[in-house]
Amino acid sequence: MKLTDDPHRRFNPLTGEWVLVSPQRTLRPWHGEVAAPPSAKEPDYDPNCYLCPGNNRAGGVRNPDYPGTFVFENDFAALQPDTSKQQLDVESKGLLVAEGESGICRVMCFSPRHNLTLSTMQVSDIELVVRAWVGQFRELAGLKEIRHVQIFENRGAMMGASNPHPHCQIWATSSIPEAPAKELNSQQTYFKSHKSCLLCDYVELEARQKVRQVCENDGFVALVPFWAVWPFEVLVCSRRHLSSMLDFTVAEIASLSGVLKQVASTYDKVFAVPFPYSMGFHQAPTDDVEHPEWHFHAHFYPPLLRSASVRKFMVGFEMLGTPQRDITPEVAAERLRELCSS
Ligand SMILES: [Zn+2]
Ligand SMILES: [Zn+2]
Ligand SMILES: [Zn+2]
Repeated sequence: MKLTDDPHRRFNPLTGEWVLVSPQRTLRPWHGEVAAPPSAKEPDYDPNCYLCPGNNRAGGVRNPDYPGTFVFENDFAALQPDTSKQQLDVESKGLLVAEGESGICRVMCFSPRHNLTLSTMQVSDIELVVRAWVGQFRELAGLKEIRHVQIFENRGAMMGASNPHPHCQIWATSSIPEAPAKELNSQQTYFKSHKSCLLCDYVELEARQKVRQVCENDGFVALVPFWAVWPFEVLVCSRRHLSSMLDFTVAEIASLSGVLKQVASTYDKVFAVPFPYSMGFHQAPTDDVEHPEWHFHAHFYPPLLRSASVRKFMVGFEMLGTPQRDITPEVAAERLRELCSS
């Protein structure tokens, strides 16, 4: 079986799921054609933006004239801190099961400037964002009822981001959500049977193979994972075995800022448009249990496939069977690597 030519399945050791890879379906060489609608330039400040400094938000709260990052409770929070954890199981059959979920949803603006992105911000300003994330993670992780803190950014209308102002969301929950729960289970199992960390071992293997690396610096490495589902999916791993942002050194805060800018600005070069994506950090659960198995990482999931307007849809076999991709992770990584160093 040749990974470059033959249809095959690849295993994701983090989630225990498979992805179908069909390299033979790439009928024509991939040119990265640019079919971008000319994007209107966003202004520094937008009087109609609910995230810009000094503007009113829904509900009539006015944003302060913040000079750097700015955090507030989500005005339309998906979770409430005071929800009871009551459980429901109708007739104890395990068929109609529900439980209350409490949590906290916050929004963080990266900058007062309406028209910046991680790809265009100065690394020194991204460092302020990383420091603010560390502060948020520390505070929320310290709350007794919070077992997981998810920091994530949705960028671009294609990903449902309602506002171009650079910002992320922070959802802290009383239970561990599905994706990190699967990764927790896999990392624990691997740690027990190999007496080493899954992602430490994986990053070391990738460093020897080199074919899926995108860019790297002293603290972090960015690569297209072997099991990537999205065409230009990227996994960012710390070089050191860190379980969360609370383990960062000053140098690692700078390194993470650098690698985030590199990945985001490389993406913008792929189709010469601001690249949409969902990005987020996976950190150890904050459930007051030691997590020696957990390795800090970030996922970038961008939906674009062949041009600025052609996106990948998870439909048909992907919805009913298994996710599938045509261009291999190695081809995608090569393309990103070229753009990263250009
Ligand atoms: Zn704004
Ligand atoms: Zn590790
Ligand atoms: Zn993860």
